[in-house]
Amino acid sequence: KQNINKKQKLYQINLDAARYFFKSMSGSNNNGYKYLKDRGLDDKTIKYFGLGFAKNDWNDLNNYLLQKGYEQQDLIDSGLAIQTKNKKNYINRFKNRVMFPIFDQRGKVIAFGGRVLDHSLPKYLNSSETMLFNKRKNLYALNFAKKNIKNDTLIVVEGYMDVISLFQYGIKNVVASLGTALTVEQAKLIKKYVNKVIVAYDNDEAGINATLKAVEIFNEVKLNIKVLNLGKAKDPDEYIRKEGVDKFNILLKNSIPLLQFKIDILKKKYDLNNDQDRLLFTKNVANIIKNIKSPIEVEYYINKISKETNISIDAINSEIYGKYYKKN
Ligand code: ATP
Ligand code: MN
Ligand code: MN
Ligand code: MN
Repeated sequence: KQNINKKQKLYQINLDAARYFFKSMSGSNNNGYKYLKDRGLDDKTIKYFGLGFAKNDWNDLNNYLLQKGYEQQDLIDSGLAIQTKNKKNYINRFKNRVMFPIFDQRGKVIAFGGRVLDHSLPKYLNSSETMLFNKRKNLYALNFAKKNIKNDTLIVVEGYMDVISLFQYGIKNVVASLGTALTVEQAKLIKKYVNKVIVAYDNDEAGINATLKAVEIFNEVKLNIKVLNLGKAKDPDEYIRKEGVDKFNILLKNSIPLLQFKIDILKKKYDLNNDQDRLLFTKNVANIIKNIKSPIEVEYYINKISKETNISIDAINSEIYGKYYKKN
């Protein structure tokens, strides 16, 4: 009972804070507002996602919420206030950052992410874990995306800006795992709504590694997985702003089945004109194909690899199923 009351209070604090951040951004001269405009967001999008600004002030929000009647301990427990190092004062956790409210599935604000306006670090700061916010169990924008499911599919991206940018262009079945390695809980949450995912993580080393880990987890919960190939763009936000929504939709349509994605990564490691490399590549691919259950898929990939490497279908089959394999 006490927990329920406490939670209600924390929900209310988060909502009041979101409103405060939103109001703090009014005026076209506001640095946060200018920042979001520079990144191509329009007023409607800013409002829809409830984006705001934490002023360059250590105390404003904390004082505002105290004046509203909340107790300091509740503000600490909400993750919005912190104690100073000397433990004598309480200050805002967020200062001089663009603020992204994080919603739960029902659309209630449970936490915030805050981004600096320049290149200082850390680029993003999130609320600490609280009674309301467990980042392992939450997906950014699921509250919006679940009402916009298309094709039994959710697109999974890394960041706030990826979701918001795609959304502004009309692609609304998007959630973000918020940089952290995707968790089984998050994958299960997705599986509650769809059977298919398209992973559209960043096109850098961190993003590719995160993709490789995420697909294993999606596999565990039996989601059908495809991977988006962003080409030269850094992330979905950058891509759609540069190339537009029509080209992004083509990317979506052309997104690669998981297995092909794995083969493509291997291919980059080897030089197929070199005999030694060609053999290693083929052996590695054979190892991947071993795990496929569908005979149709197996045949499809074996044919493809045989053509690419000039190694016979029989030899690849033997590599996969052992040396006693006989074609009948
Ligand atoms: P931007 O486009 O604003 O530069 P981004 O979303 O492309 O940001 P990434 O560096 O790709 O930024 O990170 C993806 C996501 O990971 C962010 O949106 C954020 O949720 C999370 N993230 C990144 N850096 C941090 C950090 N230092 N602490 C916590 N979360 C972070
Ligand atoms: Mn990234
Ligand atoms: Mn990114
Ligand atoms: Mn980005």
